[in-house]
Amino acid sequence: MNAPAPQRTDLLAWPVLGRFLRWRHARLALQLPLFLLAVVTIGHGLAGPQLAPKNLATLLVWVHYRGLLVMALLVAGNVFCMACPFLLPRELSRRLLTPRWRWPHRLRSKWLALALFVAALFVYEWLDLWGHPFGTAVLALVYFGAALAVDGLFQGGSFCKYVCPIGQFNFAASTMSPLEVQARDLSVCASCTTHDCIKGARDPQEPARIVQRGCELSLFIPQKTGNLDCTFCMDCVHACPHDNIGLLSRLPGEALWQDQPRSGIGRVSRRRDLSALMVLFTFGALLNAFGMVSPVYAVQAWLAGLLGTTHELPVLAILFAAVLVVEPVVLMGGAAAWTRRATGSADRLVDICGRFAPVLLPLGVAVWMAHYGFHLFTGFLTPLPVFQTLLADLGLPVQPHWGAGGLPASQVYPAELFLLALGLLGSIGVAWRVAEREHPARTAAAFVPWATLCALLWAAAMWLLSQPMEMRGTFLGG
Ligand code: SF4
Ligand code: SF4
Repeated sequence: MNAPAPQRTDLLAWPVLGRFLRWRHARLALQLPLFLLAVVTIGHGLAGPQLAPKNLATLLVWVHYRGLLVMALLVAGNVFCMACPFLLPRELSRRLLTPRWRWPHRLRSKWLALALFVAALFVYEWLDLWGHPFGTAVLALVYFGAALAVDGLFQGGSFCKYVCPIGQFNFAASTMSPLEVQARDLSVCASCTTHDCIKGARDPQEPARIVQRGCELSLFIPQKTGNLDCTFCMDCVHACPHDNIGLLSRLPGEALWQDQPRSGIGRVSRRRDLSALMVLFTFGALLNAFGMVSPVYAVQAWLAGLLGTTHELPVLAILFAAVLVVEPVVLMGGAAAWTRRATGSADRLVDICGRFAPVLLPLGVAVWMAHYGFHLFTGFLTPLPVFQTLLADLGLPVQPHWGAGGLPASQVYPAELFLLALGLLGSIGVAWRVAEREHPARTAAAFVPWATLCALLWAAAMWLLSQPMEMRGTFLGG
């Protein structure tokens, strides 16, 4: 095995964990329990009690899965995509059928996935999905069906790269992860002639046959930077004939101020869809948190009065347009105009926004983490009585403890504030590095507008998290 790069920890070189992760069936071993849990959860959602705190679908999906997902992203990396249960049926189907088509060129961007991301946030609020076990189970079934249909028809990792909204969320958040799949030694890649990490490893006796696929997300390891589009599937690790790929430590957020062309992605600052992903990810975090606090009802009532309607749909549509479109255009456009004026640049506002959009991500990750972490820690034990009831229904002598909850909100709040402070510091650090890269002679002048924007968003997040938050879907919420 090649030595890991100096000063970088390589998890794949660790004795037990590394051995497991390099095991060819590690992904399947992680997917199977999650797939079985998803089957139980969907079954309970469809046929179990239709009261959110008594149903595994609403509890596990909206309280636990989301919280554990963002925590795993922050302490390790894109572990959910690695263990994604939605891909298991497609793996099985691909043993029987080979997809015929290539994903259409026109759809090779994040726009479709972004539309689905916004649609998912909207439907969640509109249909109050956190309170609907049946609807939650149907949503999960739709997800399984979509992954199977897209990857059953189209080659490669089309669903993960171009369609899956959860995947895009994970890609954006994993920019702040401390681990990345990378070459251990670039000089080995320089002398490599087969490039199996992307092309796939072939059977030496039968060269037309690929025995281990390469990266389905089109990431060529020597030119890969950061975690964008990486599902941690480890296919490249198994394909590389030189054992030259590791799961290496790195500074979280480091790739946010790097703008060299990346394999399978290009230059991030020139990808409007990636900039939109970063903006929607961050403003979506604020919107999602806003939907949980009591002032949202006053705003909705005011809007409904203004429109003279009793329907929630147009009110929510306006709220979404205001927070996800108008607010970013005004705030980002304002910061870009200020930057242009302060630095004497003649660049278009949209180009400046594209270069500085990554600045938002550390704060965005912190807001999602603080919000979902709150629900996770205050409702951690809530599925316990539901499992106990299931066991009791099977005739086992178990008494459900319906009072089970988690930590008091007052104990979680300081951790939320700490996360937001870290997020602000991270965003300010990225803003400085991007300003330094783009305007080496006027760094401070280019930095101030974006630091101010981050401070404004941080203040908004602080206000949101200081409001009493609904304990949706649990008995703790009353
Ligand atoms: S197959 Fe291995 S050695 Fe060759 S380019 Fe890919 S990572 Fe580098
Ligand atoms: S094959 Fe591609 S997506 Fe999978 S771990 Fe390697 S680089 Fe990431």
